[in-house]
Amino acid sequence: MPSLENTSARVILKPGRDKSLKNRHPWVFSGGIAAIEGEFAPGDILPVFAAKGNLLGKGFVNPASQIRVRMLTIGGETVDAGLLERRLGQAQALREQFLPPDTDAYRLVHGEADLLPGLIIDRYGDNWVVQFHALGMARLKPQIVDILKKRFQPNAILDRCETKALTEEGLTPTREVLHGKLPEKVRFRENNLQFYADLLDGQKTGFFLDQRDNRALIGNVASGKRLLNCFSYTGGFSIYAAVNGASTTSLDISEPAIALAQENFALNGLDAQAHRFITANVFDFLRQPDQEYDVIVLDPPAFVKSKKHIDKGARGYKDINRLAIKQVADGGLVLTCSCSPFVDWHLFQQIVFSAAQEAGRQVQILARPGQPADHPVSIFHPEGEYLKTLLLRVVEA
Ligand code: SAH
Repeated sequence: MPSLENTSARVILKPGRDKSLKNRHPWVFSGGIAAIEGEFAPGDILPVFAAKGNLLGKGFVNPASQIRVRMLTIGGETVDAGLLERRLGQAQALREQFLPPDTDAYRLVHGEADLLPGLIIDRYGDNWVVQFHALGMARLKPQIVDILKKRFQPNAILDRCETKALTEEGLTPTREVLHGKLPEKVRFRENNLQFYADLLDGQKTGFFLDQRDNRALIGNVASGKRLLNCFSYTGGFSIYAAVNGASTTSLDISEPAIALAQENFALNGLDAQAHRFITANVFDFLRQPDQEYDVIVLDPPAFVKSKKHIDKGARGYKDINRLAIKQVADGGLVLTCSCSPFVDWHLFQQIVFSAAQEAGRQVQILARPGQPADHPVSIFHPEGEYLKTLLLRVVEA
């Protein structure tokens, strides 16, 4: 198999800057590099050497990005299509081992944690969404698409990536069908429930696959209860609860999301008329007095999108948590999430602490779920962790 490396150039690190690579952290920042010798194009795969001259591994170089090199291998292994195929195979094996039964939607590749930096691949039954967050990985698009076609015979592959961070990589937002014909709405199964997702125009890659285990948790604890699902999107948490006999209220600011939530209820044989769907702002809705819920879900979008905005975002988290802790019935539950990578566990729990204090109620933490197994975190790359959840029980003091 031909090598994908550029062997006529090389990256040389400054003295002492090989430590993080030896610790398997996959990023080399611009400040750690002494020189890049030879001719190369942005996105090329180059060998990386320590100042003393020993080879550390191979990675994508991008002179425009603060993350100057993203490592693909540690050591001397050759980077070719076979390596990509093996990594995809390992990723698939992990999902086969840990996915619940009757589930055909999952994240096949979660970037650095699956040793494929900058690559996200989500599966929705026979339809696939790929995201290239790094220039070097984007240049391997044809190889990645080929492997997916060979391995999975997909109906369609959509390339959809619209995050702001792309510009720093020299990439532009994309929304392009790379293979096959994408249906307007794709249908898939999760824990034996059925869902539609709009991969082209929906949020993220179409559905929030990372909340699968939390949805199952709510399905269990909200059985027969009154559930308020804030930031409901297309109804995920509500449907898990409703099939277990809960009466549900789904609340989202997006009208198309609420419309699709109603369709998803019908798809699961649930009578949408027997449940409430509200298009509104959670911050306003939770301020309405005297509501009665036994379980409240708070799964907002990332309020903190950069380090600069931590204070403002933290206020947003505190507001909704305070309001939910106040509103929920005595002995009730609040499942509260943050998917912002800039809010770590410690800060998130501090925010919820302040919210509980201001609400003036007694709060117990019952569980602290993180990311599901198809969104793994490399122990060497903690930056890949973003989802934090607290399951709270609220009682009178
Ligand atoms: N819990 C969902 C995913 C939530 S994504 C699931 O399991 O699928 C976040 C959602 O919050 C989006 O649907 C977005 O439309 C909605 N949203 C963002 N700001 C909002 C606000 N202020 N009030 C209500 N909904 C909001």
